[in-house]
Order: sequence, then C-alpha cells, then structure tokens
Amino acid sequence: MADNADQSETELTRSKSVDEKVAELELKTRAVHDAEPLTKILVLYTGGTIGMVTKNGVYEPEPDCMVQKLRALPIFHDAEYGDAHFCPETEANHLALPLLKSKLKTDGQPSPNGLTKEEFRVLFTVEEFEPLLDSSNMNMQDWATIASRIQDNYDQFDGFVVLHGTDTMAYTASALSFMCEHLGKPIILTGSQIPIYEVRSDGRDNFLSSLIIAGNYCIPEVLVCFNEKVFRGNRTIKNDATSFSAFKSPNMAPIVTLEIDISVDWAGVFRSGTTEKFRVATNFCPNVGLLRIFPGITAQTVRAFMQPPMQGVVLQTYGAGNAPDNRQDLLQLFREATNWGIIIINITQCTHGRVSTSYATGKALRETGVIPGGDMTPEAALAKLGYILGKDSWSLDKKRKMMSRNLRGEMTTSIQEEISIMDHELIESVARTLSLSSKDEIVKLRDALYPNLMCAAACTGDVQALEKLRQTGGNISAANQDGRTALHVACRGGHFSTVQYLLHHGASVHIKDYHGDTPLIDAISGKHMAIIKLLVQTGAVIPLKPEKMAVELCSAASQNDVDTIRAWHEAGADLNVCDYNYRAALHVAVCTYNTDVVQYLLDNGANTDIQDIFGNTPMSHAEKLCYHDILKMMGQESAVNHIE
Ligand code: ASP
Repeated sequence: MADNADQSETELTRSKSVDEKVAELELKTRAVHDAEPLTKILVLYTGGTIGMVTKNGVYEPEPDCMVQKLRALPIFHDAEYGDAHFCPETEANHLALPLLKSKLKTDGQPSPNGLTKEEFRVLFTVEEFEPLLDSSNMNMQDWATIASRIQDNYDQFDGFVVLHGTDTMAYTASALSFMCEHLGKPIILTGSQIPIYEVRSDGRDNFLSSLIIAGNYCIPEVLVCFNEKVFRGNRTIKNDATSFSAFKSPNMAPIVTLEIDISVDWAGVFRSGTTEKFRVATNFCPNVGLLRIFPGITAQTVRAFMQPPMQGVVLQTYGAGNAPDNRQDLLQLFREATNWGIIIINITQCTHGRVSTSYATGKALRETGVIPGGDMTPEAALAKLGYILGKDSWSLDKKRKMMSRNLRGEMTTSIQEEISIMDHELIESVARTLSLSSKDEIVKLRDALYPNLMCAAACTGDVQALEKLRQTGGNISAANQDGRTALHVACRGGHFSTVQYLLHHGASVHIKDYHGDTPLIDAISGKHMAIIKLLVQTGAVIPLKPEKMAVELCSAASQNDVDTIRAWHEAGADLNVCDYNYRAALHVAVCTYNTDVVQYLLDNGANTDIQDIFGNTPMSHAEKLCYHDILKMMGQESAVNHIE
C-alpha cells in the first residue's frame, strides 16, 4: 500500500514536472517562432508633473499609480497582446504599444527591429523610482542613479525613456550626455506641464512620441522630447513655465520633428565614433558654480564665490562673451583663481549666440586664462565642468583642454560648411538626367542613393569611396531597402579596416536589418574573428534569444563546424544554451559523433549533465552509444571500464 502510494506520488511528481516542462516548452517554442518584430524600451520613471496628482491643492508625485493608469489607456497598452505575452505575476510592469497604423517616414534609417514601420511593436517596461521626485529636489546623486540603471540594463533594451520633471530636465539631460560615454542607443527624457492623468495633458503625447522615437530610430544621443520636437539634451533650456512648448534649443535645430511625417536630421546626429563599449562615469564633482556678472559686481562677491572648495566656475558674461576690461580688480581675480587651479569657462548671458574674442573686453578675459565656452548653455557648461572635474586621473591641463573640446555635440566648434552634395559626380549626373534642381529634390535623391552606394563601397572594402560619400553628406549608418547598413556589409565581407573606419566615424553596432540581424551576426556568419572581437569590444551583443542561439549552435555541432561555434563563442554566446527540446550543442555533437566539436565544447565549459526534455544528458548519450573516446574526453574513465 505504502509502496503504491510512493509510486503514484513519484508518478505524480514526474508527470507534473513533464507537464511543467511541456508548458515551458510551449512558451519557448512560441518565443522561437514568434516572428513578430519588436523593440524593447526601458522607462525610468523618476517623478515630475507627468505623474503627479493634486493633494491639498498642490501637485505631488503619486507612487504606484503610473503603470496601472497606462495599462488602462489603449494608446499605451495593447491589452490583447499583453494578455497573450506577459505573465501577470512577474511582468506586471511590462506594456506593449499598439501597432502603429500610420506609415512612419524613416529617411533611409532602419528601426532597431529593422522592419517596415507598420509592422513594428514597441514593448516597454516601467521602472518606478523610490521616492518619486519633483525634479527641483534632484541632485547629482540622482543623475548617477539614472545613469547606473541605464548601464545595468543597456544590453537588454534598445532604448531608454526617462520620465522626469521639467524644472531641472535640461540639467539632467546635460549631465547624462556627459556621464554616458560611448553611447550607442537613444536615451530620451520627457515629462509634461499637465499630469498625464488629467483630461487635458501634454504628457500623453510627449511620452508616446518618446517611446515611438526610442523604439524606431537609432539616434545614439541623450535627447529631450517635448511638444512634438526632439532636441539634443545638452542644447536645451527650459524657457517657458506655462507653455506646452517648455523647452528650447537656442543654438541648434531639433534633431526630430514629429508632424504628419516624422523627420530626422540624420546629418545632425552626434555619434561617438569610437570602438569602446558603453560605460557611465558617475564620479561627478559637486564643487562647481554659475556666476552671472552684472554691472557693478564687486570684487568681494567674486572672491567669496571663488573660495574653496570651488573647483570650476561657469562665468556668464555679456553679449559675445564680454566682461569689463576697465575692471582690473576683477581681471586680476580671474587670473588668480585660474592660478589656484579653478577652471573658469566663459559663456554668454544671451539665450542665443556664442562667445568670441571680437571685442577687446572679451579678449581681456581670455588673457586671464578663462576658457571660451562657445555656444554652450549654462546647464551644459555646468554639467561638463562637473563631469570633467570628476575625472580624477586627468591632469589639470588635460581637464582644461577637454573643457574647450566638443565632447557630446554640446558646442558648435566651427561654422559648419554647407555640404556640397553636388560634389559627388554620380549625384550630379543623375540629378541632371532627372532635371532635378532644387536642394530638396537633390537631398531626396542623395538619401535614396547613398545607402546603396555606401553598401556597395563597403562590399569591396573601398574606404576611399566611403570617405567621399561621407564628406558629401552621406549618413554613415543609413540603411538600404533591406535595412542593411555599410557596417553589416563590411562585416559580412570580412573587411576589417573598413569596419574600423566605419566604427570610428560613428556607425552603429546596434542597428538591425529587416531580418533582425545586427552587424555582429554578419561577422559570425562569415566567421571573421578579428571583426567579431572588434564589434564586441565596441559593445555589440548577440541580438538573439537564447533558444534561437541554441538552434544555431546545435546546427553547427551537427555539421562538425568548430569554426562557426568558435565564432559564436567569441561573440559572447553561452555554449550551454538549450533549444526548444532543451538540447545543447554538446547533446548534438555527442549524438552525431562529431568529436572535434565535442572537444572544443568541453574545453570551453560545456556541461555534460544538462538534461533535455527526455532526461538525456550529453554523457548519458555517450554511455548509451558506447562512445568510449567521448566518455574519456569527459573524464569518465570508470564509465568506460564499466561498459567494457
Ligand atoms: N516641478 C515639476 C518638476 O520639475 C515641474 C514639472 O515637472 O513640469 O518636477
């Protein structure tokens, strides 16, 4: 009786675990075959009016409310999709934007999912900060927290949206733009003037636009999205406390405008152009300040401002960067402060324009050691100072040099020459043949032809042709009709120096073509190890779900293709990932008696005891099939003796 009871319990346990496995299997299979293309956005909800409610007659942030409210708004969440794809217990903060019906104009730029815009699906996960803050209460530590959350989640998401109060948004955007080094994905800050829960609110449009842009346009910058415009974050200032158009970018046109068409100024996008991985620098120097001079300011006031622990001062001067040159006491003070090691950066008090040394008054300031800050906003200048002064390993001289360099597109270094598109003979002759003459028509022609010309040049590794195209206004990351960029093509063809050239000019390693493949997948297919290494060093990660990766590894294992497995491994693949039958590459390699692959897998950490859906492990396969040499490779001498 007892035996029977034990037996039936065992059966129950077994059948339960089989049921569980089958259920998991169904999920996995769905994941593998779920062909719907998607992009994933992480929303960091820090606070601000966008999520506030009225309490005692004033606005206050309301915790644990945003996700619930968004879920009830059909423009933010497709409930049918959510019910079918998200687990209510563990994925309560996962939402799915409904599919867009209108066609988005992409200007030859692919979405991260690489598909035509009608087909994409943007999934977003909301992470709520604790406590939620009015942005007036934020400090430098909060900037570091936001940057660190982005760093922790960088590889899992295609882009980031930060919900933030408007009051200090320009400061946070500026700070993040410096703290986020070698950025390859969009980070968009947004908020609103009226809470999203109210009937009239700018919050819904601002948030939705941010999700659409972050999910579809690989703009590797920290941006601010407000009132149908997307600005470079470190160029913004909050300029209106009452209008929906709260932000302005006085010295730079918006990067994106959302009207009936969404237009992106791809030529204006700032790209880091390095082969280094994304990282964040959170060591921010707090000893910085803004000093606005005014007629009659006393030397005592300035001296008091420059006292320790002050390390960096943004000096806001008149007009084109002028300070009184008849005030030797002030000029002497600036000279002294510079000698004490304080970095002083000169920007204009005017909203629009830049500092120059056209006036004697501006020149006098320059001669005291004050650094000209071009057309930087006060927010950007302050954030840049804090970031640079936080670089403990840099000498004072290097810090001063870096202050005058354009690091993240925060200042205009030279007056950009008008790009002469007609410099390219091909464009010129096609334009003539088609009788095109207006600049708009020729720009359209260029945008249609250049991605293909770039891919053709990359295909043969023709760096000179790429350079010519770039110089005449070509967007280095533009995609052809298949969503493929020059970097995809160069990686597939194994042209190492072309890949280097493209990366150094800001080509993105994250752009997916219409099959969802990034340049890394092309490099793996071509087994180009040096290119794979370079891409990984630049921050590329395999864009496939583990189950799909396992299918690739198992397929290579079945063909004894060690080089392909090596390529996947170099690209960061875990060799123990399992396919829809819970089989890893080692199961397949053992069963097909592909000993070269078995050896490679074992040398690189493959497990011999992973159970597939039927309970078989690579080792049990070897035992059943009496593959003595494989058992020996697995260090199972005793099992071999036992079989013999
Ligand atoms: N005081 C609010 C904040 O900055 C204003 C806003 O969000 O618009 O958090």
